[in-house]
Amino acid sequence: MQNNRRQFLRLLAALPLAQSLPRLSLGQEKKATRVILLGTKGGPRVLASGRSNPSTLVLIDNVPYVIDCGYGTSRQLLAAGVPLEHLRYVFITHHHSDHTLEYGTLFYNAWVAGFAGRVDAYGPAGMTKLTRDFFTLMKSDIDVRIQDEGRPDPRGLIFAHDLGKRGIVMKNDQVAVTACVVPHPMIKQALAYRFDAKGRSVVISGDTAYSPALADFAKGADVLVHEALYLPGVENLVRRLPNATRLREHLLASHTATEDVGKVAAQAGVKTLVLTHFVPGDDPSITDEQWAEGVRKHFGGKVIVGTDLMEI
Ligand SMILES: [Zn+2]
Ligand SMILES: [Zn+2]
Repeated sequence: MQNNRRQFLRLLAALPLAQSLPRLSLGQEKKATRVILLGTKGGPRVLASGRSNPSTLVLIDNVPYVIDCGYGTSRQLLAAGVPLEHLRYVFITHHHSDHTLEYGTLFYNAWVAGFAGRVDAYGPAGMTKLTRDFFTLMKSDIDVRIQDEGRPDPRGLIFAHDLGKRGIVMKNDQVAVTACVVPHPMIKQALAYRFDAKGRSVVISGDTAYSPALADFAKGADVLVHEALYLPGVENLVRRLPNATRLREHLLASHTATEDVGKVAAQAGVKTLVLTHFVPGDDPSITDEQWAEGVRKHFGGKVIVGTDLMEI
């Protein structure tokens, strides 16, 4: 796997860059591959302030790769300086609503902003149905706008791909994207994604319980963006809620405590670990130091406690 990846990267380095890439109003001195956290709060609940719902942006030669579409993704993408009509690639890690709620709407928002190109959307089985069902939901509006406003039919502009278990997802001249199944009960197929671009490899964990297989998948990556669960914070959270016991069981079985995130980063040997998808993500009493301290017991590399719109 590693050898194949190295070979592919050497091949990439020898290829000329595509001439027709969308150019954003971003400084050319920036890194070719950038990561911007769009939303860093785990879970579907929408807050009046604080962290936005989950989404992560990888920009490769200024082409946006949007990973997960929690509520608010369109606004956060705009806030990150990416015009919606530049949308090109979407990756969904799993079918929990904090990762999918704005999937159809993000594409719709790009369409009404003037998008007329092609979007490829990748994710676990169900992507095609999710896409089709969104268009069914919006059918009357879409049909009217095509007729009234002379827009192209959006149903022909997005291509949904239902992914299998593991392996290569897509590749173009800029990047090879691979996927790996991670444990996230009760979801049957949750995926982590790895972006091997020229000069930089980035892994996005998605939602996952502690996973040595993910550590293997992330081997040697420059940046690992990993979800994080803070156990004392969960105890405080469940004390406030009526469905406490059930919720606590779900959180502990399906997410990764900060100590274990540190183990994964250490096993993977990544240079930089970025924490995101914070659970609980709405407790301002938890400090950055508290988020990082469990991680540091096991991982000696650079630890970044993510915030919305932070660029790495
Ligand atoms: Zn989630
Ligand atoms: Zn989830």
